[in-house]
Amino acid sequence: MGETPRCRLCGSDLTTGLVATGRRVGCCNATPIVGTCPEHGPLGPHHVVESE
Ligand SMILES: [Zn+2]
Repeated sequence: MGETPRCRLCGSDLTTGLVATGRRVGCCNATPIVGTCPEHGPLGPHHVVESE
């Protein structure tokens, strides 16, 4: 429903809107991008905390 991914480093809300635009960047990007932190950039699952 309203799951909001947040940066694990700074706790900022991630911008997930950029994921659709920045998907499949390059040919060898095997790391899924959950969202983009305004300070840390694109983050994978390991750096994202989803609020429950
Ligand atoms: Zn961050």
